[in-house]
Amino acid sequence: MTVLTDARPLDRVADFPAIPAGWAYLDTAATAQKPQVVVDAITRAYDTTYATVHRGVYQRSADMTVAYEAARAAAARFIGAASADEIVFVRGATEAINLVAASWGTTHLKAGDRILLSQLEHHSNIVPWQLLADRLGLAIDVCPLTADGRIDLDAAERMLTPAHKLVSLAHVSNVLGSILDARRAADLAHKVGAKLLLDGCQAVPRLPVDVAALGCDFYVFSAHKLYGPTGLGCLWASAETLDSMPPWQGGGAMIDRVSFARTTYAPAPARFEAGTPHIVGALGLHAAIDYVEGIGLEAIHAHEAALVVRAREALSRINSVRLFGPEDSAGIVSFAIDGVHPHDVGTILDEAHVAIRAGHHCAQPLMEALGVPATARASFGVYNGAADVDALAAGIERVTRIFG
Ligand code: PMP
Repeated sequence: MTVLTDARPLDRVADFPAIPAGWAYLDTAATAQKPQVVVDAITRAYDTTYATVHRGVYQRSADMTVAYEAARAAAARFIGAASADEIVFVRGATEAINLVAASWGTTHLKAGDRILLSQLEHHSNIVPWQLLADRLGLAIDVCPLTADGRIDLDAAERMLTPAHKLVSLAHVSNVLGSILDARRAADLAHKVGAKLLLDGCQAVPRLPVDVAALGCDFYVFSAHKLYGPTGLGCLWASAETLDSMPPWQGGGAMIDRVSFARTTYAPAPARFEAGTPHIVGALGLHAAIDYVEGIGLEAIHAHEAALVVRAREALSRINSVRLFGPEDSAGIVSFAIDGVHPHDVGTILDEAHVAIRAGHHCAQPLMEALGVPATARASFGVYNGAADVDALAAGIERVTRIFG
């Protein structure tokens, strides 16, 4: 038997005030816990520096505007955007995809055009396109998966035609952890004249991301999966693409000049940010980006890969466990136990202070393809170590004993 050690421990659990000793938090793919530096950035803003942004003539507001825009610049740098103006702050990845559908989709797509998605997409990268398809008369095609749970880009290559105007795929699957060959996906999309949107929710906390190197046209992510606050996310698109997109919501802050005769709009990104933004959320995101960059995304990826190897090896020794997804998953392991509903698995693990997610993970078409109603999912973050994986494996052994 190979004895796997936690090859690259990060020992970061002490940074996280909401993780008590002895609690194995294995639900980072749903939402990440927050390091003290993020909590402090948010608290400090509300305690001492809070004011609105962009509109105030007083110093406090001007200072807050500088901090808010610095967060945008940090997000741009973090994913390799050419300029801070290419980052649109939204409520999360879900809103970002809905924005692209409502703005870019309604102006660049027409009846008969096709969109290529994949079988493993999160509902937030399916339903906005279905709503748009119903409205405009588009067709949606679904790229199948390989046997080990990756988006099958050979199949995508065969499926893509000049009628495809958009390919929209998860950079990392929230259920299987499989990593897309995004560069190849971009090349395949561009070959037929389609744009590529990457859903980066599960990628940005786990992999170095550089939108220029990936060659995608849109990139979206949520701050709360990146150790930042809920209620904030980013849409990236090139300045040229954003310039080609009309407003999608109207209100304050997104205008150039308003009159009843004719209203004109601000340039991007303000054009897409109607209303008072999540000011403090942006400061929290900035702190989260600084935090993960301080550790290094390469180190985080290696750490989580070691935990995945350890978890897969431990679980594969338990006969009734069925593992899904590829060996080289990015920090996420989904599994099922014969004859036991994943909800029961989750409940019994909770008694042992191991928190996993059980359900369809907002990926019902993937569940259908896997032939299960739900899976149990363990997902890792910078605070997890070998002891958490061992607690998971011990908990699963207990589940199998209870269910005979
Ligand atoms: N895409 C993926 C791959 C996800 O994991 C999630 C969150 N589970 C989303 C999109 C939606 O993110 P949010 O709910 O933060 O908008």
